[in-house]
Amino acid sequence: MSKRTIEAVFAPPAPHMVGDGFRVHHFFPDGVIADKQRMSPFFMLDYASPFHFTPTQTPRGVGVHPHRGFETVTIAYQGKIAHHDSAGHHGIIQAGDVQWMTAGAGVLHKEYHDKEFAEQGGLFQMVQLWVNLPMAYKMTPPCYQELTAASMTRVPIEDGEVEIIAGEYQGKKGPAHTFSPLNVFNLHLQEKGRCILHFPAHFNTALLVIKGSLLVNEQTAAANQFVLLKNDGEKIEVHALEQSIVLVLSGEPLGEPISAYGPFVMNSWKEIEQAVLDFNEGKFGVLSDN
Ligand code: MN
Repeated sequence: MSKRTIEAVFAPPAPHMVGDGFRVHHFFPDGVIADKQRMSPFFMLDYASPFHFTPTQTPRGVGVHPHRGFETVTIAYQGKIAHHDSAGHHGIIQAGDVQWMTAGAGVLHKEYHDKEFAEQGGLFQMVQLWVNLPMAYKMTPPCYQELTAASMTRVPIEDGEVEIIAGEYQGKKGPAHTFSPLNVFNLHLQEKGRCILHFPAHFNTALLVIKGSLLVNEQTAAANQFVLLKNDGEKIEVHALEQSIVLVLSGEPLGEPISAYGPFVMNSWKEIEQAVLDFNEGKFGVLSDN
């Protein structure tokens, strides 16, 4: 098996605020990667690098808003996040936990810092990933998977472990249900730890360095940097230069047209217009701002 070439190592772009609670580096699309198809089935990556929030009685976050046609995946590294949606799901996640929300046909939701975390203040670090749905499942009923740290599949490796959120490593499967073949791992490595990953060459693949620093196929990547790999091989060798955590994304491209507008990701502009119409007519359900 041949090694993948590194296409680029991107420094995090300047952060912007989503609501008043999420200070994010927007890597794609229309970020360091412009092309909406380049990381398919992953559509969007927002990364909140470690940032200290001062204590407040009013939790920061994003108020009620809709989604249709994809899944929002929130991975918590530091701090606590609360979620409510119009399908009746509610959850609070903290370090090591993941919320995997399938918007499908449509939900309203709100995302805030957890009240207790807000009152104490502290370091906040998380990832929000939008996973696109195949055409056949765009209008699937909304679903919510709360994946706790304890529910993750862990495969021990020399000087570390592969924590599988979704997909498969060495025959072991992660807890998330997905609608297309994809892998989402957190790779935990001690200093000098080493891991070899194999994904089919046509799977779009990238790494985000959550903590520490690495060599990826002999190239250096530091904390908060994003490593995009070419689709020219299967093998990726990761060597930790210090204790590190790496988010690994790899998935089979959906190979379908994308029309995206704000919180809607569909296959045609007509479907976007329908989503806006359905939202304006209240078909995404009801969710209170309080
Ligand atoms: Mn949202």
